[in-house]
Amino acid sequence: MKLKIFKYGEPVLREKSAPIAVVTGPLRAFADDMVDTMHAAKGVGLAAQQVGRTERMCVIDIPEGCETAEDEAFNSIVPMPLVMFNPEILSREGSQCDKEGCLSFPGVGGSVTRAAQVTCQYLDADNMPRIVTARGFLARAIQHELDHLDGVLYVDRLSEAERLSFEPKLKRLCGSNGGVR
Ligand SMILES: [Zn+2]
Repeated sequence: MKLKIFKYGEPVLREKSAPIAVVTGPLRAFADDMVDTMHAAKGVGLAAQQVGRTERMCVIDIPEGCETAEDEAFNSIVPMPLVMFNPEILSREGSQCDKEGCLSFPGVGGSVTRAAQVTCQYLDADNMPRIVTARGFLARAIQHELDHLDGVLYVDRLSEAERLSFEPKLKRLCGSNGGVR
């Protein structure tokens, strides 16, 4: 089932997520809906806040051809779509800067510096603890989605100059969706 995607300006995007005690059937069904919603919107990731909820969970699916061959090989053991409950980043290494977008910011995309590699722990749909290490584009997606779970948005991480250049668009988008920066 496709869910409504909340846009910049909606207060829920600034809310911090609450950890999940146990992954239940309804939460698994919700995760499936999040994956459907992400695919329908042609996104590569979606966090609970982006569909108006605050459970600590997110989904990621990187289509083929988005990563360098080297990163794709490195990341190939990570299951896709990646459905993570209670994800936490354990370690970060290196740095990368690249263009980033977000389903909650239609028409806006800017450059964000992030760690080049992250190791992340989470619970899978069967409540099994998992650890993944990811590089490149997937590492970027994980950091972006985990930011959402803390109420942090990628525009918070743009350079001052880029943020200023997007300001009119951001103001318009925010104003038509509830007005919360
Ligand atoms: Zn996003």
